[in-house]
Amino acid sequence: MIPRETIDRINSTAKIEEVVADYVTLRKRGANLIGLCPFHNEKTGSFTVSPSKGIYKCFGCGASGHAVKFIMEIEQCSYVEALKQLGKKYHIEIEEREMTQEEQQRQDNRESMFVVNEFANQWFQQQLWETQEGQAIGLSYFRERGLRDDIIRKYQLGYSPEKGSPLAAALKAKGFKGSSSPMMWTRRSVSAWWVRVKTVGCTTVSATA
Ligand code: ZN
Repeated sequence: MIPRETIDRINSTAKIEEVVADYVTLRKRGANLIGLCPFHNEKTGSFTVSPSKGIYKCFGCGASGHAVKFIMEIEQCSYVEALKQLGKKYHIEIEEREMTQEEQQRQDNRESMFVVNEFANQWFQQQLWETQEGQAIGLSYFRERGLRDDIIRKYQLGYSPEKGSPLAAALKAKGFKGSSSPMMWTRRSVSAWWVRVKTVGCTTVSATA
């Protein structure tokens, strides 16, 4: 595990234009730099680097981010590996230390939260598009409120069945554990996700109604 202070130091030291220049030939254009995007095939440069903002952005394929993300994408490596590479470039020493049990637990919880969240996301969408109840109640409601199908898919709107807690049953069937602490996280995050979906739905509905 890399200490927070070291990560902050790497982030504040790494200059995006220098990091990108190791891979891409950049020309100056106004306050920015521009070059051929390394993430998609192009003949005219739409890959822009902003030294003042510390970010890169490609107007062709949408790739964007800070220095660490650039290294992760171009080297196809992990966050930690990208930090190590930048540390080496800028002569910043990285002493890694073992995670404490508490930190390990926190990381495990966080990871399982993402996994369950993604599962719930897909599951709610499946309920909307592939079940009779979802189509009859959820989908017809969205359409009635003027939401196009591509918008419903884009915002990943879903449907939660009226009765019981079938999501919990589906999670259990998939082997997720219901009683350990990760599940407490996940229950909260699943309902947060659902609230977000509802909010997005309502915002879009009121904007189009
Ligand atoms: Zn691109």
